[in-house]
Amino acid sequence: MSISLSLKEVQAAGFPMGGEPLVALDLADTVMTVGDPPVDLIDTPSAQAAWWKLQARRLPPGPPPDPTSVRRLRGAVREAFDAHLEGRTASPTALEDINATAAAVPTSPRLTATDGGLREETRWHTEYGGNAALAAVAGEAVALLGDPGRLKRLRRCGNPDCSMLFLAENPRRKWCTGNICGNRMRVARHYGRTRSQDAVAP
Ligand SMILES: [Zn+2]
Repeated sequence: MSISLSLKEVQAAGFPMGGEPLVALDLADTVMTVGDPPVDLIDTPSAQAAWWKLQARRLPPGPPPDPTSVRRLRGAVREAFDAHLEGRTASPTALEDINATAAAVPTSPRLTATDGGLREETRWHTEYGGNAALAAVAGEAVALLGDPGRLKRLRRCGNPDCSMLFLAENPRRKWCTGNICGNRMRVARHYGRTRSQDAVAP
């Protein structure tokens, strides 16, 4: 999707990370997997509603998906992305879940007449019962995972205590967010240096 969402807007809505080029990545980042138990950032109806509202402009119109389907797709997408980053094969169930969600809403191209001339639109055929937003997110995951050139930019945050994933369109990008992890790691390095200086001081 070409419509962008900024990290600033995402953080203003109460989420630590988001605004990646793909909604699928933002969805993968709604769970912090390093904690035990993992922290689900959209585990309440109000958080779910706020998150889908934030992403709505990048997704086909329609009602928000049901939380169970969201969790299933998120788990599948996260598994497929993590598997790639860990150099292993993704679980067949995860791939099946992604494929089935993407296939649940077929699309067709459609012409509409506007004052500025004809425009091509995508029609989402929800008459078969699927959720268009969820199908679009699954479709993004398929497109990314099937594109080795773009997939090379998929990274995990350089902070070992952070599980966030992102697409490093700038190859030097190391952190999910400069204002959270980038800053935290800079502070940690600073204290590390200060401590080692203290240690050698007489
Ligand atoms: Zn991070």
